[in-house]
Amino acid sequence: MRGPTDEEIRKVIMPLMLSGAKMLDRHCPKCGSPLFEKDGRVFCPVCEYRERKKKTEINQKTGEVVKRLEEKLIKLASSLPDDVDELEKHLKVMDLIIELMKKYKALEGRE
Ligand SMILES: [Zn+2]
Repeated sequence: MRGPTDEEIRKVIMPLMLSGAKMLDRHCPKCGSPLFEKDGRVFCPVCEYRERKKKTEINQKTGEVVKRLEEKLIKLASSLPDDVDELEKHLKVMDLIIELMKKYKALEGRE
Protein backbone atom coordinates (compact mmCIF):
# COMPACT_ATOMS: atom_id res chain seq x y z
CA MET A 1 0.00 0.00 0.00
CA ARG A 2 1.14 3.51 -0.77
CA GLY A 3 1.78 6.15 1.85
CA PRO A 4 -0.76 8.81 2.72
CA THR A 5 -1.90 10.97 -0.18
CA ASP A 6 -2.25 14.75 0.07
CA GLU A 7 -5.96 14.26 0.54
CA GLU A 8 -5.42 11.81 3.38
CA ILE A 9 -2.97 14.13 5.07
CA ARG A 10 -5.46 16.98 4.83
CA LYS A 11 -8.55 15.00 5.77
CA VAL A 12 -7.17 12.52 8.26
CA ILE A 13 -3.79 13.42 9.71
CA MET A 14 -4.21 17.18 10.09
CA PRO A 15 -7.53 17.06 11.95
CA LEU A 16 -6.13 14.35 14.18
CA MET A 17 -3.14 16.49 15.12
CA LEU A 18 -5.45 19.40 15.83
CA SER A 19 -7.69 17.19 17.95
CA GLY A 20 -4.85 16.57 20.39
CA ALA A 21 -3.92 13.04 19.38
CA LYS A 22 -0.26 12.32 19.89
CA MET A 23 1.86 11.62 16.83
CA LEU A 24 4.35 8.86 17.62
CA ASP A 25 7.80 8.49 16.13
CA ARG A 26 6.76 5.10 14.78
CA HIS A 27 5.33 4.43 11.37
CA CYS A 28 2.64 2.11 10.11
CA PRO A 29 4.26 -0.96 8.53
CA LYS A 30 1.46 -1.10 5.98
CA CYS A 31 1.25 2.42 4.61
CA GLY A 32 4.13 4.33 6.18
CA SER A 33 1.94 6.95 7.83
CA PRO A 34 2.99 8.06 11.29
CA LEU A 35 1.11 6.19 14.02
CA PHE A 36 -1.00 8.12 16.49
CA GLU A 37 -1.99 7.62 20.08
CA LYS A 38 -5.26 8.74 21.55
CA ASP A 39 -6.99 7.60 24.73
CA GLY A 40 -4.29 4.97 25.19
CA ARG A 41 -4.89 3.44 21.78
CA VAL A 42 -2.16 3.32 19.13
CA PHE A 43 -3.48 3.27 15.59
CA CYS A 44 -2.83 4.17 11.98
CA PRO A 45 -5.37 6.80 10.98
CA VAL A 46 -4.71 6.34 7.25
CA CYS A 47 -5.36 2.59 7.26
CA GLU A 48 -8.50 3.12 9.34
CA TYR A 49 -9.68 5.80 6.96
CA ARG A 50 -9.07 3.59 3.92
CA GLU A 51 -10.88 0.70 5.57
CA ARG A 52 -13.89 2.93 6.34
CA LYS A 53 -13.92 4.30 2.82
CA LYS A 54 -13.88 0.81 1.34
CA LYS A 55 -16.82 -0.24 3.53
CA THR A 56 -18.79 2.83 2.50
CA GLU A 57 -18.19 2.06 -1.16
CA ILE A 58 -19.33 -1.55 -0.73
CA ASN A 59 -22.42 -0.39 1.12
CA GLN A 60 -23.25 2.06 -1.65
CA LYS A 61 -22.95 -0.65 -4.26
CA THR A 62 -25.09 -3.18 -2.40
CA GLY A 63 -27.60 -0.42 -1.70
CA GLU A 64 -27.84 0.20 -5.43
CA VAL A 65 -28.43 -3.49 -6.18
CA VAL A 66 -31.11 -3.77 -3.52
CA LYS A 67 -32.84 -0.71 -4.93
CA ARG A 68 -32.92 -2.23 -8.43
CA LEU A 69 -34.24 -5.54 -7.09
CA GLU A 70 -36.92 -3.68 -5.20
CA GLU A 71 -38.02 -1.85 -8.32
CA LYS A 72 -38.20 -5.13 -10.23
CA LEU A 73 -40.16 -6.74 -7.45
CA ILE A 74 -42.72 -3.94 -7.42
CA LYS A 75 -43.05 -4.22 -11.18
CA LEU A 76 -43.62 -7.97 -10.99
CA ALA A 77 -46.06 -7.65 -8.11
CA SER A 78 -48.14 -5.12 -10.00
CA SER A 79 -48.43 -7.30 -13.11
CA LEU A 80 -49.40 -10.73 -11.86
CA PRO A 81 -50.73 -12.90 -14.69
CA ASP A 82 -54.12 -14.65 -14.51
CA ASP A 83 -52.88 -17.90 -15.97
CA VAL A 84 -52.00 -20.21 -13.08
CA ASP A 85 -48.83 -21.62 -14.65
CA GLU A 86 -47.60 -18.18 -15.55
CA LEU A 87 -48.48 -16.96 -12.09
CA GLU A 88 -46.44 -19.72 -10.53
CA LYS A 89 -43.39 -18.76 -12.59
CA HIS A 90 -43.94 -15.15 -11.67
CA LEU A 91 -44.14 -15.89 -7.99
CA LYS A 92 -41.03 -18.06 -8.14
CA VAL A 93 -39.06 -15.20 -9.63
CA MET A 94 -40.38 -12.86 -6.95
CA ASP A 95 -39.30 -15.36 -4.35
CA LEU A 96 -35.80 -15.49 -5.81
CA ILE A 97 -35.59 -11.71 -5.81
CA ILE A 98 -36.65 -11.55 -2.18
CA GLU A 99 -34.00 -14.13 -1.25
CA LEU A 100 -31.37 -12.12 -3.12
CA MET A 101 -32.43 -8.93 -1.40
CA LYS A 102 -32.09 -10.63 1.97
CA LYS A 103 -28.56 -11.68 1.09
CA TYR A 104 -27.59 -8.21 -0.04
CA LYS A 105 -29.17 -6.57 2.97
CA ALA A 106 -27.19 -8.89 5.22
CA LEU A 107 -24.01 -7.66 3.50
CA GLU A 108 -24.97 -4.06 3.96
CA GLY A 109 -23.68 -2.38 7.05
CA ARG A 110 -21.60 -5.33 8.04
CA GLU A 111 -18.66 -4.30 10.15
ZN1 LIG B 1 -1.33 2.50 7.85
